[in-house]
Amino acid sequence: MKKLNQSRLVLQLLIFLLPAVISSVLVQIACFRGSEGNEANKKVARLESSFETIKNLGLTQEKAYDYLKIITSVGGRLTGSPEAEKAVELAVGLLEGAGADRVWTEPVRVRRWIRGGQETALVRSRKFSEQKLQIAALGNSPGTSEAGLQAKVVEVRSFEELAELKNLVKDRIVFFNVPMDRTLTDSFLAYGRAAQFRVRGASEAARYGARAVLVRSMTFRVDDYPHTGLITYDETLPIIPAVALSTADAERLHTWLQEDPELEIFIKLDCQFLGEITSANVIGELRGQLKPEEVILVGGHLDSWDLGSGAHDDAAGCAVAIEVLRLIKEAGLKPDRTVRAVLFMDEEFGGTGGQAYARHENRKKEKHLVALEQDRGGFVPIGLAIGGGQKMLKKLQTIQPYLQPLGIHWIKPGGGGVDVAPLAEQGVITGSLIPDSQKYFDFHHSALDLPEAVHPRELELQAVVLAMVVYFLTQKGV
Ligand SMILES: [Zn+2]
Repeated sequence: MKKLNQSRLVLQLLIFLLPAVISSVLVQIACFRGSEGNEANKKVARLESSFETIKNLGLTQEKAYDYLKIITSVGGRLTGSPEAEKAVELAVGLLEGAGADRVWTEPVRVRRWIRGGQETALVRSRKFSEQKLQIAALGNSPGTSEAGLQAKVVEVRSFEELAELKNLVKDRIVFFNVPMDRTLTDSFLAYGRAAQFRVRGASEAARYGARAVLVRSMTFRVDDYPHTGLITYDETLPIIPAVALSTADAERLHTWLQEDPELEIFIKLDCQFLGEITSANVIGELRGQLKPEEVILVGGHLDSWDLGSGAHDDAAGCAVAIEVLRLIKEAGLKPDRTVRAVLFMDEEFGGTGGQAYARHENRKKEKHLVALEQDRGGFVPIGLAIGGGQKMLKKLQTIQPYLQPLGIHWIKPGGGGVDVAPLAEQGVITGSLIPDSQKYFDFHHSALDLPEAVHPRELELQAVVLAMVVYFLTQKGV
């Protein structure tokens, strides 16, 4: 009886207390949710303030352009040249000065091709006086004999036309006069279509017995500057000399050929291949606090062509990569994952730097999540192109409101490049910040690619946006 009374009492007490218990639990859940919400809000606020600090530091200090001037101070940086080696030394110092926790180099085997002293092309005609052409040997071209070579010319505008005229080509110079398609607003697309005549033209012409090729330079402008670039020879065919011709001279030569189809061109080149040597990729990083083995990479290429000083192509990409690292450091941010700036050697002469980096045994201990390559000039950024599918796009869209005021109009699939392609093959997500490219080919691979052609603030905007994106990825992962 006594027990029964006690049980009833406990039951009554429970019934009495139940609403209080339930409401207390509900309050606790609400509080927990509230604190969760507060935590999320705090995270957003922290990210916003990080972005603000990065932006203000970048836009007031504009260090990217200082880096670009130092890298270009050595001049053009053909792979294997003393200038390229000097750039490696300077880049190590720049990364150290930018506050990297660790800076090192990794070896890269590169080809050493030199332009040599003399490059001459003359138009010789019985109808008019001798005319000098503005030319530049294309990378990989052999020189001519000491005496030079002289031959009649066959002008073509496509490989199909070359094949049609194949019986006329033997012992002649083939002149590929193919302008970049002005109707294409994507200048890289226009470049890619025209560049095939530079890349493959010499071997295609050699197939029909040509002695040399002249290739119209790849630029929308009509001016007196030849634009060099790489040739890929088909080793089963004769390796013949190949030169780039300025666009203005390409137009003139076309007219002269109408007036005198029998005119001849004399070419004398001293360029030659000296063999292979060991150069280096330069690497600097801010070590991740939580997951140091996970890497977000941003890079450009340290080598360049030799006619100018490779400012847009690609001291700009290197300068921006160094500045990304500096901005994150200077802002006092401690990234969860590692931020790595990689200045690749040999993008222009075969891409051996990107291959060496991806293959290096150091990579076995690391996991690259994203690799961003900047090699599209130092112009104002307009968009972000990246792999990783919808998941990555969605993730990055959460920060688009912060990127938009800096000129980023879109985020879409794409990006990457020669240097990070070997990482992409290993499954790493690759991408690029995309600058406006309407003027890029005015300078690309020519004597005009100088620091004066790059605007400090436009270049810095690239670094600021990339620092935000890179920092965001170090905190969020992929
Ligand atoms: Zn480049």
